[in-house]
Amino acid sequence: MRDFESYKDFMEKCSHCSYCEATCPVYLEDLLETHVARARMELIRAVLVDEEMPVTDRFKEIIDRCLLCTNCRQTCPVNVPVEEIVIAARNKLYKGKRMGMIKRKLLKQIMENRGISGAMGKLSSIAKVAGVKNIPDIPSKSFDDQYEAGTYPPEGEVRAKVVYYAGCATNTMFPETGDIVMKVLKKNGIEVVIPEGLSCCGIPAISEGDLNTASEMIKRNIEVLSKTDTDIIITDCTSCGMTFKEKVVNSLDVDDEFKEKAIAVSMKFREITEYLMDIGLTEKIKPVKEKVTYHVPCHRGWSETVSDAPRKLMEMIPDLTVVEMEHPEKCCGAGGAFFMENKELSEGIRSKKTGEIKQTGASILITQCPSCRSYIGNSSDNDLKIMHPLNLLLLK
Ligand code: SF4
Ligand code: SF4
Repeated sequence: MRDFESYKDFMEKCSHCSYCEATCPVYLEDLLETHVARARMELIRAVLVDEEMPVTDRFKEIIDRCLLCTNCRQTCPVNVPVEEIVIAARNKLYKGKRMGMIKRKLLKQIMENRGISGAMGKLSSIAKVAGVKNIPDIPSKSFDDQYEAGTYPPEGEVRAKVVYYAGCATNTMFPETGDIVMKVLKKNGIEVVIPEGLSCCGIPAISEGDLNTASEMIKRNIEVLSKTDTDIIITDCTSCGMTFKEKVVNSLDVDDEFKEKAIAVSMKFREITEYLMDIGLTEKIKPVKEKVTYHVPCHRGWSETVSDAPRKLMEMIPDLTVVEMEHPEKCCGAGGAFFMENKELSEGIRSKKTGEIKQTGASILITQCPSCRSYIGNSSDNDLKIMHPLNLLLLK
């Protein structure tokens, strides 16, 4: 990770303009000034950098009650990387031990196994003992069970070749999304390489401030991905994309020999919808007689077009009615595992989101983020179909 002291410069850039107040989902829900980005940073500076104030339980709560959603950073006129400062604070505070030992072991197993299917049967009892709740339904066959490592040729002429990085959530919670990605690429003349030996992108450990575990995952992935021979690595998950684009390099030690390789790999990452909108679709698009609305994932700041691409795609689909909700970019409250630790707060944020979705009258919610799909899908007050934008191309 970038040296904690080096964030001091970023913190000093904060002009206290308060723009970040308008986009922090936590502040907008509980209206506590201490949860606004600028206040969090002031506290971090006073407690962990200048050591003028002691570490208290309230301080820990303020550090923990951040979704790492990046909305503050995206609103900030001087681009202060608030979420990275919070991650660095968690790292310094907890030294990778924010969770209890059982939870940490469980998380590491999940990350090494690229999700929780397969291992889930064995791990569910451990999960219960560890107090992990709200684990979503897990399909019996993961993406890895359906698609072995190898090269998958397209139908007809080869227009391009990509590596597909299917993250843990796609692998185990939404393998059908992975299957759709493979089918859409195949139909559109794109050869796909699935490399052997990938692991989790590392974001769950980064969020916990456990940068040792994160860098294990990162190095494993960088080693595998840097050996592949394509210029493009695609992902369907905006959080995996953000991790590879923005977090991987900063999560390694300053003098880590992996940095160079990590930068090269990170530059190749594209979100699948965005990539397809650039390269163009060759397969005829079938009409879809549905009303849809688009929830923009918080982890969109790593690419300028990652939130435009689904809208472009939807415009191209005959008969599709697209209705924008009032605040499509507002967080759903999931924040990876945040919702497990902050149930009431997350549910409050989510209920505003689902209320806006309902107002559109849409029967389908589109979003690239698997965590949002799972968390919004698990709310009791909606009977929506929720899918990745690419699903629209294969609806029957
Ligand atoms: S990362 Fe999200 S939750 Fe955390 S301070 Fe910024 S806007 Fe608020
Ligand atoms: S938007 Fe940026 S500069 Fe303004 S108060 Fe927030 S962190 Fe500081």
